[in-house]
Parts: sequence; C-alpha cells; structure tokens
Amino acid sequence: MSYICPVCGYPELEEDPYAGGEPSYEICPACGFQFGFTDEAQGFSLESWRALWIERGMTWAFAATEDVPTDWDPRAHLRDLEASPPDADEAHTS
Ligand SMILES: [Zn+2]
Repeated sequence: MSYICPVCGYPELEEDPYAGGEPSYEICPACGFQFGFTDEAQGFSLESWRALWIERGMTWAFAATEDVPTDWDPRAHLRDLEASPPDADEAHTS
C-alpha cells in the first residue's frame, strides 16, 4: 500500500500522511515536506509549500542521497493531485 503526497502528488509514500489526524512524520522524497514538522513546527501549509517547491523548480528533495526515479514526473503528479485531491488536504488545513 502506498499513499499520495498531498503536497506534490508523489504516489509512493509509505505511510498515510495524516492517518486519523495524526501526522506520519514521513518526509516526502519528492517535495521534502515532512508531515507533522514542515506544517506544525515550521508553519507551512500544504499549499504554501507546494507553491514554494514549484517556484524552486520541482526538484527531487532527496537527490543528494537517492537517485531520482526514472518514472517520476512531477507535472503529471501535480495534475493528478489537482484532479483528485486526497482527503488529508481538507482534514488538515488548520
Ligand atoms: Zn511531496
């Protein structure tokens, strides 16, 4: 089972980012958002981090330590995300 990143649409997260309202503390390897930290400790909303990440050129956040997956297409993932946003986006706007 894999989960979709509600920030960038990366479809291979290992844990539900906000299962039952509790953050997973997983870091999305694509956009670098850490659920429960980037939002709660650093104060970014999903939307503001997404905008920042797009502005920075949609780079693979873990590129320093991991190869970028060859089938990763950030623009396609963002389009999919816009077409069907995960519930977590609504549940975690506060
Ligand atoms: Zn992401």
